[in-house]
Amino acid sequence: MGINFIFMSPKDVLKKYFGYEVFRDTQEKIIDFVLKGNDAVVVMPTGGGKSVCFQVPAMIFPGITIVISPLIALMKDQVDGLNAIGIPATTLNSSMSNDEQRIIINRIQNNEIKLLYIAPERLTGDGGRFLNYLQQLPVCLFAIDEAHCVSMWGHDFRPEYLQMALLKKTFPNVPIIALTASADKITRADIAEKLGIPDAKIFISSFNRPNIHYFIERKKNAYGEILEYLEKHKNVSGIIYALSRKSTETLAENLTEDGFPAACYHAGLDAATRAKVQEDFKKDKVKIIVATIAFGMGIDKPDVRFVMHYNVPKNIESYYQETGRAGRDGLHSDAILYYSYGDITVLKNFASIENNPQQSDILLKKLDKMASFCSANQCRRKMLMEYFNEEYTENNCGSCDFCLSKRETFDATVIAQKALSAVLRTEERFGINYLIDVLRGSKSEKIWKQHKEIKTYGIGADISKELWNVYFKELIDQQYLKRIEDGNFSHLVLTEKSKDVLYRNEKVYLTQQEERIEAVEENVLGFDKELFEQLRFVRTELAAKEGVPPYLILGDVSLQELSTFLPQNTSDLEKISGFGEIKIEKYGSQFLNIVKGYCEINRLHSKMDQKRSGKQKKVLSKIKPTGPSDTKKQTLYLFRAGKTITDIAAERSLAITTIEGHLSEFILSGEIKVTEIVEENKIPAIKLAIKNVGDQKLTPIKEFLGENYSFGEIRAVIAEMKRG
Ligand code: ADP
Ligand code: MG
Ligand code: ZN
Repeated sequence: MGINFIFMSPKDVLKKYFGYEVFRDTQEKIIDFVLKGNDAVVVMPTGGGKSVCFQVPAMIFPGITIVISPLIALMKDQVDGLNAIGIPATTLNSSMSNDEQRIIINRIQNNEIKLLYIAPERLTGDGGRFLNYLQQLPVCLFAIDEAHCVSMWGHDFRPEYLQMALLKKTFPNVPIIALTASADKITRADIAEKLGIPDAKIFISSFNRPNIHYFIERKKNAYGEILEYLEKHKNVSGIIYALSRKSTETLAENLTEDGFPAACYHAGLDAATRAKVQEDFKKDKVKIIVATIAFGMGIDKPDVRFVMHYNVPKNIESYYQETGRAGRDGLHSDAILYYSYGDITVLKNFASIENNPQQSDILLKKLDKMASFCSANQCRRKMLMEYFNEEYTENNCGSCDFCLSKRETFDATVIAQKALSAVLRTEERFGINYLIDVLRGSKSEKIWKQHKEIKTYGIGADISKELWNVYFKELIDQQYLKRIEDGNFSHLVLTEKSKDVLYRNEKVYLTQQEERIEAVEENVLGFDKELFEQLRFVRTELAAKEGVPPYLILGDVSLQELSTFLPQNTSDLEKISGFGEIKIEKYGSQFLNIVKGYCEINRLHSKMDQKRSGKQKKVLSKIKPTGPSDTKKQTLYLFRAGKTITDIAAERSLAITTIEGHLSEFILSGEIKVTEIVEENKIPAIKLAIKNVGDQKLTPIKEFLGENYSFGEIRAVIAEMKRG
């Protein structure tokens, strides 16, 4: 019994199986092109949505699509994901028993399978037996995922991929779609040639990842800052990259001790341990992984919310690739890098490859670019895009440390002149620390006697050591000074630009970073965090029961939409991202019940009328939303406008308890009087109840008081008593 073939449009397939309303950018064009039988090379960043480009055609073609993928772990995840949405896909690999393989081959024979995933060595190995076998099947499309593996220029060359050239020779009429996230030009050009499809059309998407926010911080108290970040972002998954095995271990241990359970991952662990760490991460059993770069290849986890670099990566390509593992699902994610000059020095030693000056030179140049990327005063996103030869014309991306900092420049000509003349008068032979000591007139023995006699000695005593450090670094960044490495020692020398300052009185402007502002959140409607947590909890339970990663049940995007638009019935649910037919059938009522129950308790109304398919994000993203501290103020304004707690909760789509919480805080701070919330004659009874049962839990107080007293009134009085 084969699958009944009914023609569906690409859009129908996207909706029915994936539960998505619209295609992204180029997806539809690529799909149409492939459906016409053409060869294509698709270059799209990680998370761009490459899979859909061959999975949708696979469901429309009458026969079978063969997908070549380099890693068994990735294949298995994709197959599981497809099966979970009702798409018949499977994989054949060497780890299966003969019986298992026979069953699968039977299903293929019966035309029951739409996508077959295999490793490249399987395809061409065994004296071409498998290729012969394929010739008997109605193969309609070959999809070659991670196609950069075919190029020796790529970062992940696999010789087995070269055999893929056989495909076009053996199946001249079957279209090939090759997909990669490689941003590197030489690799891109090489793919079509090596696959024997030189006339393939190349589809290139933008490499901008707007949902990833980029932060590069000087490494001063990195560990403390990481803790602070984790404290603010509980329950989310993230990866922290570090340079050495040892440091991943120490960092993971420390984080665990500090209350953030983390596992470490590096090439020194045995295969079983590594597999377990990956599995635990996918299943949300461990949220934080501290890893060397070895981690990430075999992982397509869509909800990685942050990627941190505890050490500087060795080049911009690696940085882009590693940070790219965040936010595949398109939701806001952070990329945070802690930058120190010390790391660059360590990496420099690694980059010097013995007996290969040419390669060392390339590596060092790439490292140099990485270093200037870190220290430059420019939009990170713009620099990244330009590094990959893509134009970025926005003048403020609103989502990187540079664009989110308020800065002021000031005339620093005199400061610069002092610094530069200190360099000049010590004959360009010293490093920053020594120069600062000279400028500040240090009495230390380290300072040469003759340097205590020069004019610049002590001329900068009014400026602190720390501040001089900042100034020197910026003078280097702006190329008024240049750092020269000399073994373990580095010294500063003057540049063309500095001569203009010293001899032609050219003005110098330095910037002073004032404060960091919060990024404007895209989702202005705002989702109900409490409901989101409830839904997440249920998802985790369902996933554990089925033994699959939670994201296979439903993605974070779906949960956010549920807790934003509050669907009330199945036809509402069809409009929620990720709810295709199967997901509605399997989990629809469970999730609906939670949403409905939550709405009832908190007296919330559905907001489905505000959901405009796909486009709403863009339309709304221009409006400035309210930051976290503004949310409480908004409650206060509405309260002052005479609205009841219930009204405010409904209007703001927040839980009543949340609104009560906000108001209690204002009682505590004295902005609201307790009598504005509780009738005066009720207060003594509430106080009495609190004295009797304590103020740790609300329910016993409520039980003590009975029907006539609400939780809100109790919370208000507790706040009032705390105010004392
Ligand atoms: P890539 O292979 O390019 O890294 P994936 O194919 O894994 O990306 O897709 C990344 C995420 O985007 C997945 O969660 C996928 O379901 C989702 N996605 C893809 N296309 C769409 C779409 N048109 N609408 C909504 N989500 C999509
Ligand atoms: Mg992919
Ligand atoms: Zn920016």
